[in-house]
Amino acid sequence: MFDCNQTGQHAVEQLQRGMPTANDGLPGACAWRTRRLAIVGCLATPIEKLARGGEEPVRYSHLITCPACTGSGPKAGTQPRPCPTCKGTGQKTTSRRDAGVLIQQSTLCPDCHGRGTFIDSPCPSCAGRGQVRHEESLIVNIPPGAEDGLALRSAGKGSASEMPGGAPGDLLIIIRGAPDARFERVGADLWRNQEIGVADAVLGTEISVPTLDAPVTVKVPPGT
Ligand SMILES: [Zn+2]
Ligand SMILES: [Zn+2]
Repeated sequence: MFDCNQTGQHAVEQLQRGMPTANDGLPGACAWRTRRLAIVGCLATPIEKLARGGEEPVRYSHLITCPACTGSGPKAGTQPRPCPTCKGTGQKTTSRRDAGVLIQQSTLCPDCHGRGTFIDSPCPSCAGRGQVRHEESLIVNIPPGAEDGLALRSAGKGSASEMPGGAPGDLLIIIRGAPDARFERVGADLWRNQEIGVADAVLGTEISVPTLDAPVTVKVPPGT
């Protein structure tokens, strides 16, 4: 369902435009934001999963078209009535004459907010709004070698449009490496500082260092 059609750099540009910042959603929890119809969230991911890929469950809430009234708004068996101000067009047209030229301007009808209709008996499920909030659970497929900041987009999984027939927004999940006490992340690399005793540094030794796989033994040469 998810495809990686964006790079980490693209995600960073979106972060700078007011989307989640580096610390959002860390550690562990997801911080979800809505931006018009799009829903943006950070997913803190264990670094093993960033390296090898895997699945992470996410839960988020979005607005869906009300199933009871299929988004139309009135209670079953009732009909909306046309807005008297705009006569059902949803547009308010004003005209003025400027230097002998007739200028017509259309704006959204202020009384019905562009819907063109009024609902006298609203649908009880959505209170006439045509949308209800819905909790969604998804499994995110994290590709192997995922960069910290990778954005995964799922088209149409954001919120439903308020306009009948309008396209729903996208869900954008930004993959972030969860903090890990064993390593420090420097770009795509993992670093570990390990202290050794002065005598071991002078005489040389072997130390065990954790990695994403099994621990490895590293030789410390004499005189380090
Ligand atoms: Zn409804
Ligand atoms: Zn109107």
